[in-house]
This record gives sequence, C-alpha cells and structure tokens, in this order.
Amino acid sequence: MAPDASLTAVLISALAMTAIVGLRYILTSGLFAWITARVRPGHYSGLGLQIRSEIKWSLLSAAIYGIPSGVVAWGWQQHGWTRIYTDVHAFSLWWLPGSVLAFLLLHDTWFYWTHRWMHRPRVFRLAHAVHHASRPPTAWAAMSFHPLEALTGAVVVPALVFFVPIHVGALGAVLTIMTVMGITNHMGWEMFPRALVQSRLGGWLITASHHHRHHESYQCNYGLYFRHWDHLCGTDRGLSSP
Ligand SMILES: [Zn+2]
Ligand SMILES: [Zn+2]
Repeated sequence: MAPDASLTAVLISALAMTAIVGLRYILTSGLFAWITARVRPGHYSGLGLQIRSEIKWSLLSAAIYGIPSGVVAWGWQQHGWTRIYTDVHAFSLWWLPGSVLAFLLLHDTWFYWTHRWMHRPRVFRLAHAVHHASRPPTAWAAMSFHPLEALTGAVVVPALVFFVPIHVGALGAVLTIMTVMGITNHMGWEMFPRALVQSRLGGWLITASHHHRHHESYQCNYGLYFRHWDHLCGTDRGLSSP
C-alpha cells in the first residue's frame, strides 16, 4: 500500500474505533442509567449538571481509547501485528478462559498501581480530580477521566495484545467485562445479590459496593476487578452500602 493510502487507512480505523467506543459507552451507560431509573427512581435527581460533565469527559476519553485501538486493529488486519488469533484451536481450549483471566489480572495490576500513584496530591489535582468530581458517581461516570488518566487506561489492552495470545472472541469478552464492570461499579447501587457480594468469592471481586467506598473515602479500595492488591497492601476498607 502507498504511504498516503496507509495513512488514510490508519486514520479511518482510528476514527471508526473512536466512534465504536463512544457508541458503546452511550448505549451501555444509557442502558444502566435507564435500569437505575426503573430500579431506584430518583437516584440521580439533582445530578443533571454532573451527568452532563461526565458525558463530556467520557466522549473525550472515547477518542483517547479509540485511537490506539484503531491503530493496533489496522496493524492486526494489514500486517499481522499482535498475538490476537482467530482459529479457536490454535491454543488449548482452556486458554480461552485463561487468557480472559490473564488480561483481567494484568489490567487490574496496572490499574491498581497507576490509580494509587494518581492519588498523590499533585498528580491527583492534575489527572484524577476530574474522575472524583462525580460525587456520587453515576452510570455515566465510567469513562469520565481527564485525558492524562484516559491515556493510562487506553494503552493497556492495545499493549497486552502484543504479548499475551488471545482469541478474538475472548478479547471481545474482556472488552465486555471491562465496559459493564466499569459502568456498574459507578452506578451508585449494588446490582449483585448480597449473598454473592458478602460471600468468600465476593471478598475477592470488586463490585459497586467496593468502588463506591473509594469514591467516598478516596485513600482506599484502589482496585479495578479484584481485591487482592488492596488486601496485600492494606488498602482495602471493605464495602460501602450504596
Ligand atoms: Zn471510579
Ligand atoms: Zn481514585
């Protein structure tokens, strides 16, 4: 492909991915905001201005997430970049769930430590205050990040696909879990049954009850999907009851 044509193709891929991430955000956050209005009527009343700001920052984040994903998707299609595979038998079948778990664990580790770093006062003011301006967070806050924070999140999956083999369907599962948990953890109420949240398994998984406490108390509960880093580092302060 001529250099000009390549550049156009990369740009189109980046734009398309930005549109997909933006649309995915609007549809999924919209769905959970709609469910919230049904299950907890009035839960977001008086938060109109905050929600508008959450949507504005989130759409900006969609571009920051979309560009690296679009470039990598183009490279995968055109040049065979990455270790994304399409033949389900290319690796053992147990690697399908195994790769999903590996991605979530690696993403969670990156998130825990960058998130803790962003709670240092100077970095917080610069990069993370936007996210904490949501008080209390809503289903629209999942991608409400300052561009610097969005950048730290946007590079994770596009980087991991170069190192960890993953079937394209398993990657879809990772992105779905990422989207749904990001939104429901900010929704302001717990959708999982109390029996699960307070079970032994619940002691290792992050749901709204855990992340809501982070938004209330700031210096604790930094994890994304799992609680082991918070447990190991003594930063787990248990559950809130949103
Ligand atoms: Zn949050
Ligand atoms: Zn935070």
